[in-house]
Amino acid sequence: MIFHVLKIFIFHRLHPWSLLGAFKRKAISLGTTYLKADAVAFEFKNMQDVMVDGMSNGTYESLDRLLVKTEDGEIQAIKFAVVVIAAGANSGNVARMARIGTGSEALSVPLPVVPR
Ligand SMILES: Cc1cc2nc3c(=O)[nH]c(=O)nc-3n(C[C@H](O)[C@H](O)[C@H](O)COP(=O)(O)OP(=O)(O)OC[C@H]3O[C@@H](n4cnc5c(N)ncnc54)[C@H](O)[C@@H]3O)c2cc1C
Repeated sequence: MIFHVLKIFIFHRLHPWSLLGAFKRKAISLGTTYLKADAVAFEFKNMQDVMVDGMSNGTYESLDRLLVKTEDGEIQAIKFAVVVIAAGANSGNVARMARIGTGSEALSVPLPVVPR
């Protein structure tokens, strides 16, 4: 893979779309699943045993699943342990779905990414 990328740099002008395609093919070969869908909401779960500053005990809710809408309009739920918001200029909106910027304490700080 690295040799392939170096070859592109040395012998050709780098084509960003080809590089992105190469990364994607490698990720798929390592087990990544790509799903073409819009993130529309997060589901939360109550964490009875977690204590958070500024919140009454037993009221904290953590992110649990992401709901996505596929191209044929189907809603699917994706369970995750860790989520990375990488929605480009729309990241502020997706962060709001995760209550970032609308909650209390640390969650009161919004993600300062807005479309220009
Ligand atoms: C016209 C233009 C020209 C540019 N030229 C250059 C350049 O020459 N060199 C350079 O280095 N940078 C350039 N940039 C900047 C570069 O494109 C961005 O910095 C880079 O793409 C950001 O990458 P990203 O992965 O954070 O976001 P993006 O590439 O924007 O990817 C975010 C993805 O999230 C998806 N998404 C958004 N909301 C949701 C949702 N709710 N559910 C599911 N998916 C969602 C979007 O559809 C998109 O595919 C240019 C930008 C523009 C607009």
